[in-house]
Amino acid sequence: MWDCHCHLADSAWDNLPERLDQARRQGIHGWLSCATDIDSWERQKQVAQLPGVLIAQGLHPWWAHSGNPQSIAKLSAALPGAVAMGECGLDFYRAPDEQSRQQQTQLLRQQLVLARQWGLPVVLHCVRAHSALLHELEAYPELGVMVHGFLGSIQEARQWLRRGAYLSLGPHALSRADLMKHLPLDRVLVESDAPSRGSSLLDVLAVARAWKQHQPLQDDHFEANLCRFLGIPQKDLGRRAP
Ligand SMILES: [Zn+2]
Repeated sequence: MWDCHCHLADSAWDNLPERLDQARRQGIHGWLSCATDIDSWERQKQVAQLPGVLIAQGLHPWWAHSGNPQSIAKLSAALPGAVAMGECGLDFYRAPDEQSRQQQTQLLRQQLVLARQWGLPVVLHCVRAHSALLHELEAYPELGVMVHGFLGSIQEARQWLRRGAYLSLGPHALSRADLMKHLPLDRVLVESDAPSRGSSLLDVLAVARAWKQHQPLQDDHFEANLCRFLGIPQKDLGRRAP
């Protein structure tokens, strides 16, 4: 089983290799670790050395205010070795005023341009901004996208599915039987988002377990979908895991 979205470069981890070993003993073999702020990019490169860890590099919309003209050049320099761009996106709950929304949108656009240049799929954070984010992506029909921690309505899910997106459910979707029943098995991913909001790497297991009560879902579905999203053959994903 792969954890398709977490933050292994977070400074909150103590003894990460031991945490990963503990997760392996529970059947979790791989992690897509996503960047958050500018400081995380270097640490992301370090965690990419750990067995079973792939990384995405990007600037999260919560840190849009910390972006400056140099940050996109710096991000571009941090991309070698990354398999995706992210996490990036729009969070209009955190940006109630027009100016901060513009700031987030500007940063997102710069990252979409980079993703196109580097041929990378994009890991998206989307809170109360589904229409705006879908609109921004219209100019990039070739980009693979996943919406992480999806908590939108079925209606919004359908819009994303029409766009070709993969939808990843995390611990906050445990009560969302509607999504677990209706999302198509060839587009779903599962994540812990650890250590965000106090979640643990093992939380991905509870989400998968809950989901399997609603659909004939296998761990293989998540791995196959992750590979299609990343554009890498499934045998290569296996090779990156221990
Ligand atoms: Zn996250």
